[in-house]
Amino acid sequence: FDAREGVIWFNGELVPWQDAKLHVLTHGLHYASAVFEGERSYGGHVFKMTEHHERLQASAELLGFSLPYSVTEIDRAANEVLKANGIVDGYVRPIAWRGSEMMGVSAQHNRINVAVAAWEWPAYFSPEARLQGIRMTLADWRRPAPDTAPTRSKAAGLYMICTLSKHAAEAKGFNDALMLDYRGQIAEATGANIFLIQEGKLHTPTPDCFLDGITRRTVIDLARERGYEVIERAIMPEELARTQEVFLTGTAVEVTPVSEIDDYKFTPGEITRDLLTAYDDLVRQPGLAASAA
Ligand code: PMP
Repeated sequence: FDAREGVIWFNGELVPWQDAKLHVLTHGLHYASAVFEGERSYGGHVFKMTEHHERLQASAELLGFSLPYSVTEIDRAANEVLKANGIVDGYVRPIAWRGSEMMGVSAQHNRINVAVAAWEWPAYFSPEARLQGIRMTLADWRRPAPDTAPTRSKAAGLYMICTLSKHAAEAKGFNDALMLDYRGQIAEATGANIFLIQEGKLHTPTPDCFLDGITRRTVIDLARERGYEVIERAIMPEELARTQEVFLTGTAVEVTPVSEIDDYKFTPGEITRDLLTAYDDLVRQPGLAASAA
Protein backbone atom coordinates (compact mmCIF):
# COMPACT_ATOMS: atom_id res chain seq x y z
CA PHE A 1 0.00 0.00 0.00
CA ASP A 2 2.90 2.36 0.63
CA ALA A 3 4.45 2.01 -2.85
CA ARG A 4 1.72 3.75 -4.79
CA GLU A 5 1.70 6.76 -7.04
CA GLY A 6 0.14 9.95 -5.83
CA VAL A 7 0.50 12.53 -3.09
CA ILE A 8 -0.39 12.74 0.58
CA TRP A 9 -0.95 15.95 2.54
CA PHE A 10 1.59 15.79 5.37
CA ASN A 11 1.88 18.66 7.90
CA GLY A 12 0.80 21.27 5.42
CA GLU A 13 2.53 20.03 2.28
CA LEU A 14 1.73 17.62 -0.52
CA VAL A 15 4.46 14.97 -0.50
CA PRO A 16 4.95 12.02 -2.85
CA TRP A 17 2.97 8.99 -1.57
CA GLN A 18 6.14 6.94 -0.96
CA ASP A 19 7.80 9.70 1.07
CA ALA A 20 4.96 10.09 3.62
CA LYS A 21 6.94 8.30 6.33
CA LEU A 22 7.49 8.66 10.06
CA HIS A 23 10.09 7.54 12.58
CA VAL A 24 9.88 4.13 14.34
CA LEU A 25 10.05 5.91 17.71
CA THR A 26 6.80 7.74 17.05
CA HIS A 27 4.72 8.12 20.21
CA GLY A 28 1.53 7.43 18.26
CA LEU A 29 2.88 4.03 17.22
CA HIS A 30 4.10 2.95 20.66
CA TYR A 31 1.33 4.37 22.84
CA ALA A 32 -1.59 4.79 20.40
CA SER A 33 -1.70 8.58 20.77
CA ALA A 34 -3.40 8.83 17.39
CA VAL A 35 -6.86 9.76 16.13
CA PHE A 36 -8.22 9.41 12.63
CA GLU A 37 -11.24 9.79 10.36
CA GLY A 38 -12.79 7.86 7.49
CA GLU A 39 -14.67 9.84 4.86
CA ARG A 40 -16.03 9.24 1.40
CA SER A 41 -16.00 11.38 -1.65
CA TYR A 42 -18.94 10.97 -4.01
CA GLY A 43 -18.69 12.68 -7.38
CA GLY A 44 -15.78 14.76 -6.11
CA HIS A 45 -17.47 15.95 -2.89
CA VAL A 46 -16.85 14.53 0.56
CA PHE A 47 -20.13 13.74 2.29
CA LYS A 48 -20.37 15.70 5.59
CA MET A 49 -16.68 16.57 5.41
CA THR A 50 -16.73 19.32 8.03
CA GLU A 51 -18.54 17.03 10.49
CA HIS A 52 -15.75 14.48 10.07
CA HIS A 53 -13.07 17.10 10.69
CA GLU A 54 -14.91 18.48 13.71
CA ARG A 55 -14.96 14.93 15.06
CA LEU A 56 -11.22 14.61 14.34
CA GLN A 57 -10.62 17.75 16.37
CA ALA A 58 -12.85 16.50 19.22
CA SER A 59 -11.14 13.08 19.15
CA ALA A 60 -7.74 14.75 19.54
CA GLU A 61 -8.94 16.88 22.47
CA LEU A 62 -10.22 13.72 24.16
CA LEU A 63 -6.67 12.30 23.91
CA GLY A 64 -5.30 15.50 25.43
CA PHE A 65 -3.88 17.22 22.37
CA SER A 66 -4.94 19.97 19.98
CA LEU A 67 -4.65 19.82 16.22
CA PRO A 68 -2.20 22.39 14.86
CA TYR A 69 -4.64 23.03 11.97
CA SER A 70 -8.18 24.36 12.01
CA VAL A 71 -11.17 22.39 10.75
CA THR A 72 -11.26 24.70 7.72
CA GLU A 73 -7.60 24.00 6.97
CA ILE A 74 -8.20 20.25 7.16
CA ASP A 75 -11.28 20.62 4.91
CA ARG A 76 -9.01 22.40 2.43
CA ALA A 77 -6.32 19.72 2.78
CA ALA A 78 -8.80 16.94 2.00
CA ASN A 79 -10.05 18.75 -1.10
CA GLU A 80 -6.47 19.42 -2.19
CA VAL A 81 -5.51 15.75 -1.84
CA LEU A 82 -8.54 14.57 -3.79
CA LYS A 83 -7.87 17.06 -6.54
CA ALA A 84 -4.11 16.43 -6.75
CA ASN A 85 -4.74 12.68 -7.05
CA GLY A 86 -7.62 13.09 -9.49
CA ILE A 87 -10.00 11.16 -7.23
CA VAL A 88 -13.73 11.53 -7.79
CA ASP A 89 -15.20 8.57 -5.88
CA GLY A 90 -12.84 7.71 -3.08
CA TYR A 91 -11.98 7.28 0.55
CA VAL A 92 -10.30 10.00 2.63
CA ARG A 93 -8.19 9.15 5.67
CA PRO A 94 -7.02 12.02 7.89
CA ILE A 95 -4.85 11.06 10.88
CA ALA A 96 -3.21 13.02 13.71
CA TRP A 97 -0.58 11.69 16.11
CA ARG A 98 2.06 12.59 18.66
CA GLY A 99 5.52 12.61 17.14
CA SER A 100 8.93 11.13 17.99
CA GLU A 101 10.72 13.94 19.87
CA MET A 102 10.53 12.23 23.29
CA MET A 103 10.16 8.52 23.99
CA GLY A 104 8.14 7.56 27.03
CA VAL A 105 4.56 7.49 28.20
CA SER A 106 4.69 11.21 28.85
CA ALA A 107 5.20 13.21 25.69
CA GLN A 108 3.67 16.56 26.52
CA HIS A 109 5.75 18.52 24.03
CA ASN A 110 5.98 16.13 21.11
CA ARG A 111 4.89 17.62 17.81
CA ILE A 112 1.33 16.88 16.76
CA ASN A 113 1.47 15.67 13.17
CA VAL A 114 -1.42 15.59 10.73
CA ALA A 115 -1.69 13.77 7.42
CA VAL A 116 -4.53 13.35 4.95
CA ALA A 117 -4.45 10.57 2.35
CA ALA A 118 -7.06 9.57 -0.22
CA TRP A 119 -7.51 6.71 -2.63
CA GLU A 120 -10.00 5.40 -5.14
CA TRP A 121 -12.82 3.38 -3.61
CA PRO A 122 -13.46 0.21 -5.61
CA ALA A 123 -16.90 -0.04 -7.21
CA TYR A 124 -19.37 -1.16 -4.59
CA PHE A 125 -21.82 -4.02 -5.03
CA SER A 126 -25.23 -3.26 -6.51
CA PRO A 127 -28.10 -2.71 -4.04
CA GLU A 128 -29.44 -6.14 -5.07
CA ALA A 129 -26.16 -7.85 -4.20
CA ARG A 130 -25.90 -5.93 -0.93
CA LEU A 131 -29.44 -7.01 0.00
CA GLN A 132 -28.15 -10.57 0.27
CA GLY A 133 -26.76 -9.43 3.61
CA ILE A 134 -23.52 -10.14 5.42
CA ARG A 135 -22.86 -12.87 7.99
CA MET A 136 -21.78 -11.89 11.50
CA THR A 137 -20.65 -13.68 14.63
CA LEU A 138 -20.43 -12.56 18.24
CA ALA A 139 -17.05 -11.11 19.26
CA ASP A 140 -15.17 -12.21 22.35
CA TRP A 141 -14.13 -8.63 23.06
CA ARG A 142 -16.44 -6.02 24.52
CA ARG A 143 -16.60 -2.26 24.05
CA PRO A 144 -15.10 -0.70 27.18
CA ALA A 145 -16.92 1.55 29.64
CA PRO A 146 -16.59 5.34 29.17
CA ASP A 147 -14.43 5.47 32.33
CA THR A 148 -12.13 2.73 30.99
CA ALA A 149 -11.22 4.39 27.68
CA PRO A 150 -12.07 7.66 25.87
CA THR A 151 -14.89 5.94 24.00
CA ARG A 152 -16.17 9.09 22.25
CA SER A 153 -12.85 9.53 20.49
CA LYS A 154 -12.15 7.88 17.15
CA ALA A 155 -8.83 6.88 18.66
CA ALA A 156 -6.48 4.31 17.13
CA GLY A 157 -6.16 2.43 20.43
CA LEU A 158 -9.86 1.61 20.51
CA TYR A 159 -9.43 -0.35 17.26
CA MET A 160 -7.13 -2.98 18.80
CA ILE A 161 -10.14 -5.07 19.88
CA CYS A 162 -11.89 -4.38 16.57
CA THR A 163 -9.05 -5.90 14.57
CA LEU A 164 -8.90 -8.87 16.96
CA SER A 165 -12.65 -9.40 16.66
CA LYS A 166 -12.76 -8.97 12.89
CA HIS A 167 -9.85 -11.36 12.36
CA ALA A 168 -11.50 -13.97 14.62
CA ALA A 169 -14.77 -13.61 12.67
CA GLU A 170 -13.01 -13.90 9.31
CA ALA A 171 -11.09 -16.98 10.49
CA LYS A 172 -14.48 -18.64 11.15
CA GLY A 173 -15.81 -17.65 7.71
CA PHE A 174 -17.90 -14.64 8.76
CA ASN A 175 -17.77 -11.12 7.35
CA ASP A 176 -17.77 -9.17 10.60
CA ALA A 177 -18.24 -9.39 14.36
CA LEU A 178 -20.97 -8.06 16.63
CA MET A 179 -19.46 -6.45 19.70
CA LEU A 180 -21.33 -6.26 22.99
CA ASP A 181 -20.44 -3.58 25.52
CA TYR A 182 -19.09 -3.93 29.06
CA ARG A 183 -22.68 -4.48 30.32
CA GLY A 184 -23.42 -7.23 27.80
CA GLN A 185 -25.64 -4.99 25.67
CA ILE A 186 -25.41 -4.90 21.88
CA ALA A 187 -22.96 -2.15 20.93
CA GLU A 188 -21.81 -2.16 17.29
CA ALA A 189 -19.84 -3.94 14.59
CA THR A 190 -16.05 -3.55 14.31
CA GLY A 191 -16.34 -0.44 12.14
CA ALA A 192 -20.03 0.39 11.91
CA ASN A 193 -23.17 1.01 13.98
CA ILE A 194 -26.09 -1.41 14.11
CA PHE A 195 -29.88 -1.13 13.72
CA LEU A 196 -32.54 -3.76 14.45
CA ILE A 197 -36.04 -3.77 12.99
CA GLN A 198 -38.76 -5.19 15.22
CA GLU A 199 -42.44 -5.02 14.23
CA GLY A 200 -41.80 -2.21 11.74
CA LYS A 201 -39.85 -0.01 14.16
CA LEU A 202 -36.13 0.74 14.20
CA HIS A 203 -34.16 0.08 17.37
CA THR A 204 -30.53 1.07 17.81
CA PRO A 205 -28.29 1.03 20.88
CA THR A 206 -27.81 4.33 22.73
CA PRO A 207 -24.27 5.41 21.80
CA ASP A 208 -22.94 5.86 25.34
CA CYS A 209 -19.71 3.85 24.97
CA PHE A 210 -19.05 3.80 21.22
CA LEU A 211 -19.12 6.21 18.27
CA ASP A 212 -22.37 7.96 17.48
CA GLY A 213 -21.62 7.55 13.77
CA ILE A 214 -22.25 10.30 11.27
CA THR A 215 -23.97 7.71 9.05
CA ARG A 216 -25.99 6.50 12.05
CA ARG A 217 -27.34 10.01 12.62
CA THR A 218 -27.98 10.52 8.90
CA VAL A 219 -29.95 7.25 8.68
CA ILE A 220 -31.97 8.10 11.82
CA ASP A 221 -32.97 11.40 10.16
CA LEU A 222 -33.82 9.66 6.87
CA ALA A 223 -35.90 7.06 8.73
CA ARG A 224 -37.84 9.67 10.71
CA GLU A 225 -38.45 11.76 7.56
CA ARG A 226 -39.96 8.61 6.05
CA GLY A 227 -42.28 8.15 9.02
CA TYR A 228 -40.49 5.24 10.70
CA GLU A 229 -40.22 5.25 14.45
CA VAL A 230 -36.59 5.12 15.69
CA ILE A 231 -35.93 4.10 19.28
CA GLU A 232 -32.49 4.50 20.89
CA ARG A 233 -32.22 2.24 23.91
CA ALA A 234 -30.30 -0.54 25.64
CA ILE A 235 -30.65 -3.75 23.59
CA MET A 236 -29.68 -7.20 24.90
CA PRO A 237 -28.48 -9.87 22.42
CA GLU A 238 -31.41 -12.20 23.33
CA GLU A 239 -33.63 -9.73 21.47
CA LEU A 240 -32.14 -10.88 18.17
CA ALA A 241 -34.63 -13.76 18.43
CA ARG A 242 -37.52 -11.35 17.89
CA THR A 243 -35.84 -9.14 15.31
CA GLN A 244 -36.87 -9.30 11.65
CA GLU A 245 -34.19 -7.19 9.95
CA VAL A 246 -30.71 -6.00 10.87
CA PHE A 247 -28.41 -3.56 9.10
CA LEU A 248 -25.15 -1.74 9.74
CA THR A 249 -24.36 1.91 9.05
CA GLY A 250 -20.99 3.56 8.51
CA THR A 251 -19.07 5.72 6.11
CA ALA A 252 -17.41 2.69 4.54
CA VAL A 253 -20.32 0.21 4.68
CA GLU A 254 -23.03 2.84 4.03
CA VAL A 255 -26.24 0.86 4.80
CA THR A 256 -25.30 -2.83 4.78
CA PRO A 257 -27.95 -5.47 5.47
CA VAL A 258 -27.10 -8.38 7.80
CA SER A 259 -28.48 -11.85 7.01
CA GLU A 260 -27.10 -13.75 9.95
CA ILE A 261 -25.66 -13.30 13.46
CA ASP A 262 -24.59 -16.80 14.53
CA ASP A 263 -27.83 -18.82 14.93
CA TYR A 264 -30.12 -15.88 14.25
CA LYS A 265 -31.21 -15.39 10.62
CA PHE A 266 -32.66 -12.23 9.09
CA THR A 267 -34.17 -11.39 5.75
CA PRO A 268 -33.45 -7.84 4.62
CA GLY A 269 -36.91 -6.47 3.82
CA GLU A 270 -38.75 -3.38 2.77
CA ILE A 271 -37.48 -1.02 5.48
CA THR A 272 -33.83 -1.95 5.01
CA ARG A 273 -34.21 -1.61 1.23
CA ASP A 274 -35.94 1.75 1.60
CA LEU A 275 -33.19 3.19 3.85
CA LEU A 276 -30.36 1.68 1.79
CA THR A 277 -31.76 3.39 -1.30
CA ALA A 278 -32.48 6.65 0.54
CA TYR A 279 -28.89 6.81 1.81
CA ASP A 280 -27.47 6.00 -1.64
CA ASP A 281 -29.61 8.73 -3.18
CA LEU A 282 -28.63 11.27 -0.54
CA VAL A 283 -24.85 10.79 -0.75
CA ARG A 284 -24.83 10.56 -4.53
CA GLN A 285 -27.18 13.49 -5.12
CA PRO A 286 -25.22 16.03 -7.19
CA GLY A 287 -24.69 19.26 -5.32
CA LEU A 288 -26.16 18.12 -2.03
CA ALA A 289 -23.02 16.45 -0.72
CA ALA A 290 -21.17 19.64 -1.55
CA SER A 291 -23.51 21.85 0.44
CA ALA A 292 -23.60 19.37 3.31
CA ALA A 293 -19.79 19.56 3.43
N1 PMP B 1 -18.21 2.51 14.95
C1 PMP B 1 -16.92 2.30 14.62
C2 PMP B 1 -16.08 1.48 15.54
C3 PMP B 1 -16.40 2.83 13.44
O1 PMP B 1 -15.12 2.61 13.11
C4 PMP B 1 -17.24 3.58 12.59
C5 PMP B 1 -16.69 4.14 11.31
N2 PMP B 1 -16.11 5.42 11.54
C6 PMP B 1 -18.57 3.77 12.96
C7 PMP B 1 -19.02 3.23 14.15
C8 PMP B 1 -19.52 4.55 12.09
O2 PMP B 1 -19.17 5.91 12.06
P1 PMP B 1 -19.46 6.82 10.79
O3 PMP B 1 -20.87 6.59 10.40
O4 PMP B 1 -19.23 8.21 11.31
O5 PMP B 1 -18.51 6.41 9.73
